[in-house]
Amino acid sequence: MHPLARALARVVVAARTPAAATAALSAGLLCLGCWLLVVLPVGDSTLLPGPAGAALPVALLAMLAVLLLSELGQAAVELRQQSYGFSLTGSALLVGMLFLPPHWVVALRVASAVVAFALQRSSALKASYNAAAYLLDAVLVAVLLHGLLEPARSLTVRAATVTYLSLAVVDVLMTALVLLVIRINVGPLEWSDLTEAFVPGAVAVAVASALGLVCVVLLLAGPVGWVLLVLLAAGSAAAYRLYLTLRRRHADLQLVQGFIDASVGGGEALAGDLLERVRSLLRAGTAQLVWRGGAGEVRLHAEDGTAVGAATGTGTRPVVVPPERTDGLVHAGLPDGPQARWLTEAGHRDALVVDLGAMGGDGVLVLADRLGGEVSRFGQEDLSLARALAGHLVVALQNTELVDRLRWDATHDALTGLPNRRSLAGALELQLGGPPGAVRRPVVLTVGVDRFDEVHDVLGQQTADAVVVELARRVRALPLPGASVARSGPSELAVLLQAPSQPPVELAEVLAQVSHDPVPVGEVLLSVGVSVGAVEVADDGAGAEEVLRRADTALFAARATGSRFVLHSRSLDSGRVERLALLGDLHRALDEGALTVHYQPKLHLGTGTVTGVEALVRWEHPVLGAVGPAVFVPLAESAGLVDRLTDHVLATAVAQARRWADDGLPLSVAVNLSARCLDDDTLPQRVAGALAGAGLDPARLVLEVTETSLMGDPARTLPVLRAVAALGVQLSLDDFGTGYSSLAYLQRLPVHELKVDRSFVQALEQEEAGTATALVRTVLGLATSLGLRVVAEGVESARALAALRDLGCHLVQGYLVSRPVPPDAVPDVVRAVAADPAFAGGQRGGALPAPRAPSAGAVVAAG
Ligand code: C2E
Ligand code: CA
Ligand code: CA
Repeated sequence: MHPLARALARVVVAARTPAAATAALSAGLLCLGCWLLVVLPVGDSTLLPGPAGAALPVALLAMLAVLLLSELGQAAVELRQQSYGFSLTGSALLVGMLFLPPHWVVALRVASAVVAFALQRSSALKASYNAAAYLLDAVLVAVLLHGLLEPARSLTVRAATVTYLSLAVVDVLMTALVLLVIRINVGPLEWSDLTEAFVPGAVAVAVASALGLVCVVLLLAGPVGWVLLVLLAAGSAAAYRLYLTLRRRHADLQLVQGFIDASVGGGEALAGDLLERVRSLLRAGTAQLVWRGGAGEVRLHAEDGTAVGAATGTGTRPVVVPPERTDGLVHAGLPDGPQARWLTEAGHRDALVVDLGAMGGDGVLVLADRLGGEVSRFGQEDLSLARALAGHLVVALQNTELVDRLRWDATHDALTGLPNRRSLAGALELQLGGPPGAVRRPVVLTVGVDRFDEVHDVLGQQTADAVVVELARRVRALPLPGASVARSGPSELAVLLQAPSQPPVELAEVLAQVSHDPVPVGEVLLSVGVSVGAVEVADDGAGAEEVLRRADTALFAARATGSRFVLHSRSLDSGRVERLALLGDLHRALDEGALTVHYQPKLHLGTGTVTGVEALVRWEHPVLGAVGPAVFVPLAESAGLVDRLTDHVLATAVAQARRWADDGLPLSVAVNLSARCLDDDTLPQRVAGALAGAGLDPARLVLEVTETSLMGDPARTLPVLRAVAALGVQLSLDDFGTGYSSLAYLQRLPVHELKVDRSFVQALEQEEAGTATALVRTVLGLATSLGLRVVAEGVESARALAALRDLGCHLVQGYLVSRPVPPDAVPDVVRAVAADPAFAGGQRGGALPAPRAPSAGAVVAAG
């Protein structure tokens, strides 16, 4: 090996960076080319009779022009989705080598390449390598042809074959060199890289040689041949143009078809798909789309060989938007300005920019880096095609947006922008069953604004909306990781937690924070209360809708009972739900005074007359008709309405008793108290107020309390009871026998009356009434010893009445005597009972026990 070559080879191998290695290789090729040119005699003669004298400079200039043009304007042919670039340089070189002095051809080849690289602003490294390679290429061809062929007058078959083979051999050599450069710069090669490099290379050489040889033959043929050559060149150019046009039309049709096929998709996927289609149609290295639509700005990026991606996503290049109003072709040849600067900044060779504003959209389509080799550039035709496609793109994007908008509307709440109930149900459906191995089951919490209707009615729709929007904002800002928030009702927001980190109670506390600060509405600050309902998603086969309904029920219960939070349980289900629905109606009934009071007489067995009545509340529901107190009183108790109810019945009853007294009918009136009333130390005050309001003698009022209600918390209830009794009011122990109170315990209570529960009284009617009889007897004995009077409730038959009489019961109450009747009917009932011989006073029963002095107050009159 030549010492110089050896030294260079050593430099190439020792080079640390690919650039250094490439530079060393370029230098090596340059030296080799020059050395060959000097060492190997190629002579000045031409192989075929070429132009001489004044014709030579003209021919040389023409040669330069042809080389330059073919270097700049690489043709591309599409075959099976692949674009094959080929240049006419090979043909021009062949013609030049045969007709012109070899040194000139080599010089022109290198000169044309250098000029072309300068025009294309190729990198210095690349340009120097290519120039060196072209030099070597041309020198090798010259050496081979001049070494193997003798100058001749015409083209022989042998000469043609030698020419072709020489070109082919040199081409293989040059391709190998290119692969070497790639190996240096990019890394190890694969087998496919070799076939991809050599096979098209061989084809290109064959085509270029054939074309070159045809030109040679025509040039040798004299003027006719020259004319034919010109015609052939013009025809080929025209054919190539036609080919391009047809190809584009065909592709355009394909694209339209593709649009139709693709338009079933939606959103970014469709936009990305269309972008990729546009990119591959225009043979662009990258296609980028910036689209400002209803849903904000979308930036998409499609790159040759990689998937389409959102331009903001990782792994893809960010879209660098060209300066305002850029539309058209942007290439390196432009004078320095914003567009040229953008091109450099974005790192593109050339670009084609379509302003989508002109198509009725808002955004920009950028196609950059025309594929097909360094020399490929976008042209005016590409621009027209790109504009046409951009039109399609805009329409498709707008349609997609419309579809997306409709889809969004269907799944979101317009006011808060939150997902709606339907999409929450969809999300929930996926969570049913829960994640495997999760510690806690998914939870749905519903938070609702308290007294929202009032806010709406008093302050108006806008304020109500503002409250909901603000709460939605606050709920979203809560520290509830992984929560999906939705608007589940007019004043309700639902939160789905797939893997809650806290138990529902704690979550509810977090959720209730949204009402800590007042909500600013215009100028004012509005304090709003919220209630929270929750449900744990159970494995009981309940669907998403059912789970949401349970959450609603829990919230309803929380609101209805005034407790801030209710966790759904089975007891809230079925019948209770309807009862809860009643609660709203009960509220209204209380507000409107729609609850009435009926009275049931208590018959005094000793005298055979009605001495008192029990007030029983009645509710005529506008839709459901009569609703029994056994249904709505517990409801009122659970919703904290029972005080209002009690006060209403109390006031009505004492006023009525006063009227009867004024009418000469001195009846005592009994009012039922709920267990909750006894917890309330304002009760004595309220009772006193009612009595004073009606001007009724306290002794005429009996308050019935159940045995169980006393048992709850005697420490609290006893003082209340004592205070009430101190007013001179009588106390009656209702439903006696159903609770657990020991009879001895009664001593401690300021009670005046026992009402034996209906179940025992009705047992007296049976043939085998032994136990009931024993109980009533015991009760009577005890009561008598304690100075209490005994009332038997639920007396329905003469048989029971007779038994009670025999046992010495003091008073009876029941359907046998009278059903509860409206106040107007009471005087008639009292008269009728007095006249009825069945109730006539007897000697045995009915003697009232001697009045007993209760712990506080005194029994002034018996009931
Ligand atoms: P209670 O205090 O034991 O009232 C007696 C209940 O037995 C009344 O039912 C009455 O209509 C019914 N009754 C009377 N005689 C007979 C009979 O011979 N046979 C049968 N089968 N039933 C008879 P009502 O009016 O439906 O009241 C049910 C319960 O509702 C009352 O039981 C009482 O606990 C409660 N309640 C009624 N009014 C009020 C009220 O104003 N305040 C409170 N806190 N509770 C009330
Ligand atoms: Ca009662
Ligand atoms: Ca009772």
